[in-house]
Amino acid sequence: MPATDTIVALSTPPGRSGIGVLRLSGSTALEILRCLVGDSHFSPKSHHVLLKTFLDPENAEVLDTALVTYFKSPRSFTGEDVVELSCHGSPLLLRRIIDSILRLGARVAEPGEFTMRALAHKRLNLSQAEAIRDVIDAQTDAALQQANRQLRGELSAKLQPFKENLLEIIVPLESSLEFVEDDLPEITHQQFVLKLQELVSNIDNLAATFRVGHLLRDGLKVTFAGRPNVGKSSIFNCLLRYERAIVSAIPGTTRDSLSELVNIEGVPVLLTDTAGVRSSVDEIETLGVERTHRAIADADFVVVVLDGSEPLTHSDQEIFDQVKNTPHIFALNKNDLTSCTNETLINNLPKNKVISLSAKTQNGIDLLKAAVLEPFINRDTQNTGLLITSARHFDLLQRTQIALRSSIRLMGERASEELILVGLYNALHFLGEITGETTPEDVLSQIFATFCIGK
Ligand code: GDP
Repeated sequence: MPATDTIVALSTPPGRSGIGVLRLSGSTALEILRCLVGDSHFSPKSHHVLLKTFLDPENAEVLDTALVTYFKSPRSFTGEDVVELSCHGSPLLLRRIIDSILRLGARVAEPGEFTMRALAHKRLNLSQAEAIRDVIDAQTDAALQQANRQLRGELSAKLQPFKENLLEIIVPLESSLEFVEDDLPEITHQQFVLKLQELVSNIDNLAATFRVGHLLRDGLKVTFAGRPNVGKSSIFNCLLRYERAIVSAIPGTTRDSLSELVNIEGVPVLLTDTAGVRSSVDEIETLGVERTHRAIADADFVVVVLDGSEPLTHSDQEIFDQVKNTPHIFALNKNDLTSCTNETLINNLPKNKVISLSAKTQNGIDLLKAAVLEPFINRDTQNTGLLITSARHFDLLQRTQIALRSSIRLMGERASEELILVGLYNALHFLGEITGETTPEDVLSQIFATFCIGK
């Protein structure tokens, strides 16, 4: 992907700010900088910051006096000549400087184009490039920590021995293909099967971390369901620690679904408070109830809120039916009320899925938090270090497994080396797609389309 044109973008968020950083990358970046400072001999030292005055190239009007850093190719983020301008953070001023730079022959960068160029010039690999996006998008400390590990190259380092193990099997198989008389002895065959089985199990262990890893990155969708007035909005507010939803004793107050993001033990959790599930003649409330059904269908986990001081009703039963295929828990709310001794109610529910709490006194709220994360967090995998956080990586690891398993099966059947090699090469290819060596162009474009402009 040779890129010689020069791109420019605002690398800080749009809007008023102390400073706004503009970045240029490409073969004419230095030439454009010279025009901007009005000095055709300007030769800044690489990686040094200088205070310069920028002039409008058309009328020599002063645009700004700001800091300039030049990064000479190839020792730059993109591997090309890069110029960073730390200007005053006025949107109007930044727009004028960008316009001047565009008139000097640069073009506006596409989303993720700086990082794409860094990848093209092998300044980082694909999983590191993706990690940059994840660092920027991280919602919790734990997600940030994982993204940083991937950025430092831990994932590629972890995959490297897998690739080497595969090559150690591919090479002798290839040579036995070429020299027919070099038929592989039975013992070697058995060793290869053992090696491949070990590889499959190592990849399995890595792929298993996705269960936790994707939660750290993408978060968990938790929906509160229950008939009106059981205390859904009160619990929702408790977890958010402010009065987001209206709490009222009048049934049907929450007529639409409300969603808010909270951080529970490092996992970003998108909480959705729903309109109570009940039949209604009111058109708005009916729409709200429809949304509730959708929020339940969309959820990773449903908290079925019941009023612990009242017997089960037909509406409660209807909700049980709706959630039966989604991980869920029953939250018996209002345990501060003395009447909350509804033994029949508790006996009717699976014991390991029931928690008792009170939104009013906050008693049991911690139990609820733990219960929400419980089905998703396997404590064993929490300490292994690097986690697979991206669905793309997980999918490729799974495909690697399938390819390896087919080769193992063929080896057991004493199939020809040619057939066995197909699976091994596929496995190598899938591993290479994670780090970018074998990733098709269209997949790369899809990945970089998810980046922000200026990155
Ligand atoms: P929702 O319709 O299910 O969202 O229920 P709300 O959160 O609006 O609460 C309905 C009523 O129950 C309100 O009057 C709340 O103050 C009351 N309530 C909610 N949680 C508790 C609780 O834990 N204990 C008691 N005593 N009352 C509660």
